[in-house]
Amino acid sequence: MSGPPRKPQEASHSNFIRSAIESDLASGKYAARAWGGKPGAAKVHEGAASDPAKIRTRFPPEPNGYLHIGHAKSICLNFGLAQDYGGACHLRFDDTNPEAEEQEYVDSIIAAVRWLGFSWENEGASHLYYASDYFDFMYHAAECLIEGDHAYVDSLSAGQMRALRGTLTEPGKDSPYRSRSAEENLKLFRQMREGKFEEGTHVLRAKIDMASPNINMRDPAIYRIRKAAHHRTGDKWCVYPMYTYAHPIEDALENITHSLCTLEFEDQRPFYDWLLERLAQDGLIQRPPPQQIEFARLNLTYVVLSKRRLIQLVEDKRVDGWDDPRMPTLAGARRRGYTPEGFKLFAERIGVSKADSWIEYVVLEDCMREHLNEVAPRRMAVLDPVKLVIENYPESKEEFAEVPNHPQKPDWGKRQVPFSRELWIEREDFMETPSKGYFRLFPGNKVRLRYGYVVECVGYDKTTDSVRCRYDPDTKSGTTGAEKVKVKGNIHWVSAKHACSAGVRLYDRLFKAPHPGAGDRDFLQDLYPDSKKTITAQLEPALKQAKAEERFQFERHGYFVADLKDSQPGRPVFNRAVTLRDSWGKTEKPESKG
Ligand code: ATP
Ligand code: MG
Repeated sequence: MSGPPRKPQEASHSNFIRSAIESDLASGKYAARAWGGKPGAAKVHEGAASDPAKIRTRFPPEPNGYLHIGHAKSICLNFGLAQDYGGACHLRFDDTNPEAEEQEYVDSIIAAVRWLGFSWENEGASHLYYASDYFDFMYHAAECLIEGDHAYVDSLSAGQMRALRGTLTEPGKDSPYRSRSAEENLKLFRQMREGKFEEGTHVLRAKIDMASPNINMRDPAIYRIRKAAHHRTGDKWCVYPMYTYAHPIEDALENITHSLCTLEFEDQRPFYDWLLERLAQDGLIQRPPPQQIEFARLNLTYVVLSKRRLIQLVEDKRVDGWDDPRMPTLAGARRRGYTPEGFKLFAERIGVSKADSWIEYVVLEDCMREHLNEVAPRRMAVLDPVKLVIENYPESKEEFAEVPNHPQKPDWGKRQVPFSRELWIEREDFMETPSKGYFRLFPGNKVRLRYGYVVECVGYDKTTDSVRCRYDPDTKSGTTGAEKVKVKGNIHWVSAKHACSAGVRLYDRLFKAPHPGAGDRDFLQDLYPDSKKTITAQLEPALKQAKAEERFQFERHGYFVADLKDSQPGRPVFNRAVTLRDSWGKTEKPESKG
């Protein structure tokens, strides 16, 4: 199992995929399948005990890029269902395309799935697979199709083939090579494999129906010649299976029961079923074959999820690499301070559906806020500092304020935060001439310094750029009578002589448009120029020891994480994960901050 079954209150709401699985479990549709301990043809499983996994799902990325937030939806879905129904979920690299696939991507995908907290271990076995391990079987199956007159070698050029394919309203026409004998096809296919032909001169096609209303059933290509080295099989092959042929076979060999994919594959389902039925008839794969079920892919506003565009952002240096905290990759989200639990919550909340739609980015941010609120200890940090001098506080005096680590979690305890005559406060917490409704520091007004004293502003000194105030020694938080002076404003601070100054990166959305590149616009024109601001902030001293990936709430600001890459021991660099509330597009900062 991919982990302990989830408690019922954590489990997802019902949906059409769950209904399908539950009805298959009730009817015992897959109960008779055997599992020979590893993926393979029917003979590998024959005579073995029945499959200990009640269902099998898989997450099948192509290792040609980094995983993104859309993949997280698919990962949470596939691994989550296996977990909930006593099944197993396989991590399978769909590496049937020799170009563009690289080890770097394989490693980053493994790291991302692990980071999300999922495991492909089940009953002591590791279900990490590579489609390229099935090349021998795929080739063998293709020869069997040829022998059964279900496939033929076509020697038309790509253009000629296109011309015969027909349209949505017109049927296609048979290729003149469609009537080649099985013997001739076999001979040609073997020569293709031996490297006797140039790329593009021949393809192997399934022999189905050129008049089918579904264009995908008009004799789709299943093998092509590609004289390219593969990241795992090297130069062993110069013919490679097409995705539509390879994918159903990968599922069948791995005993997958429910093969979940995005909606654009709906029209491929008849071919998926056609192929597996032929292979089952020949006794090559077990029955019943897996079934494909489609769901809507994730579209998120303000985000691009196409690999092509993500590659462009990296290559054009619009961002600082694949794991730039503004990137929608999981590696980026991790550095940004987003959490695996936040992603799981998000996946549950958006659910699965049969219709494409857009999810608002703020839904994801809210999920992160919700989880970070639970797990992030509170700290004080001044991001835009100005000095506050307490004129009647002794120069040499120092004391501690007792500050709770989490207001709703008394068991997290309190810490001692040093307090002294000179403090850093936020520049926006002072106004020489207050605007209407402003109740923080301005001459003559009183505020509470959180966990400290009530102070009254007495002015501002231009030459030293410092706000001046006087404190009331009887008002220290936590002491009797502290509440006698009522104030409206409550601001945070950091003792200047104890502060730790650190780099903080204020990240915002990477794109300013909800649908980047909509219409004919170049999506790069929609980049938000202020998506990254680097500042030097003044932090309470405890933050100096923050370890890489430690997350905090900076009071009144939002959630921050010590950057994974750039933090040094004793010298953390922080990234803003998300603000406390959604302020996108609002020019006025909510006054309730004060
Ligand atoms: P490409 O753009 O290269 O086709 P892809 O985004 O489809 O890439 P794959 O590596 O083929 O990437 O995807 C692996 C799995 O993740 C597939 O099963 C796919 O359905 C799923 N997936 C990809 N993008 C999304 C998305 N936006 N929402 C939900 N699932 C997705
Ligand atoms: Mg794909």
